[in-house]
Amino acid sequence: MSGNEWLIPFNRPSFEGREHEYLEAAIASGQISGDGVFTKRCHSYLESEVGVAKALLTTSCTHALEMMAILLDIKEGDEVILPSFTFVSTVNAFVLRGAKPVFVDVRPDTLNFDERQFDELVTERTRAAVPVHYAGVGCEMDVILSVAESSGVAVVEDNAHGLFGTYRGRQLGTFGSMAAQSFHETKNFTCGEGGALLINDERLVERAEIVREKGTNRSRFFRGLVDKYTWTDIGSSYLPSDLLAAVLLAQFEARTAIQEARRRIWERYSAGLADWADQVGARLPVVPADREQPFHMFYLLLPSLDARQGLMARLKSKGILSVFHYLPLHLSEMGRRFGGRPGQCPVTEDVSDRLLRLPFYNRLSESEQDLVLETIQGFRP
Ligand SMILES: *Cc1c(COP(=O)(O)O)cnc(C)c1O
Repeated sequence: MSGNEWLIPFNRPSFEGREHEYLEAAIASGQISGDGVFTKRCHSYLESEVGVAKALLTTSCTHALEMMAILLDIKEGDEVILPSFTFVSTVNAFVLRGAKPVFVDVRPDTLNFDERQFDELVTERTRAAVPVHYAGVGCEMDVILSVAESSGVAVVEDNAHGLFGTYRGRQLGTFGSMAAQSFHETKNFTCGEGGALLINDERLVERAEIVREKGTNRSRFFRGLVDKYTWTDIGSSYLPSDLLAAVLLAQFEARTAIQEARRRIWERYSAGLADWADQVGARLPVVPADREQPFHMFYLLLPSLDARQGLMARLKSKGILSVFHYLPLHLSEMGRRFGGRPGQCPVTEDVSDRLLRLPFYNRLSESEQDLVLETIQGFRP
């Protein structure tokens, strides 16, 4: 999926502000390992802008999810409820601790965790539920939190798509005890590979710092809280180089420009494809009125698998790369080992065949986008 062989690639990461300058400064500082000045500034930025008790940069969203599973003490035999329609890491993180994934279907409108099925999937072994805010449009958090509370289940958010999105006026990433963010090159804000663990439950902060620092209390040592540091818990090396944090901070600081560019692209797709979608029986993304989305992606739901493949081929013939998204995890080789079977998540199985994501990146020009729009508008399934 590399950018160069396509006239219009699916994604094209761009530097939007002071990335080079900050990188040079990080190199000149002589400290390029983790938790340097740029990392600390990224932490402060996320803490104040999202409104969480603690933010910790990680090497990826995958690693933030793994940290969550450790911090929740997920053990062999525990059950975790999560959508089948998600990236593999959402599930792997918990399976690595010995959990059994219990797959919930998604809502046909937002393609999010179907909160109406949550209650019936809870058993006495359920330890956690993981809403994934698909395309950055928030899940039905009021219902999810109330079911979780009444059944004693922890909620943690996979917010890889949803940084700065809101649900009923409150930012995504602030609902669960923790949330995971991604700064992979396909996400709105990027340093190539990277992530963050956002922590809302303050009781988890101290241990999170230990788990992230190879199971040692090194962070407390640096703050002068202990006079030597030692191995106190399980953990791994989850902190990214300050070089990456330098790039990420510059991206955060360009937030207004990035979000404005993405909003414009999203709205042009939406306005330009509404009539066509009506005519051919396709559907555009649904964003309920009580949510703000951060314009992470634009997708189409075509009327059939054939129509989706046909449109992809048509776009490809013009040098435009469009891509489908998640294959149902419950039907994957691993998913079947956990009892996954056809028909278990019918909406997931259906939309997975029909969904197509269009090129979406900050520097997508109007003329590039016009070519995508015209190609689609001329397509009849
Ligand atoms: C991108 C993504 C991840 C993984 O992010 P990495 O930073 O690449 O580990 C996890 N969950 C979802 C929903 C994602 O889109």
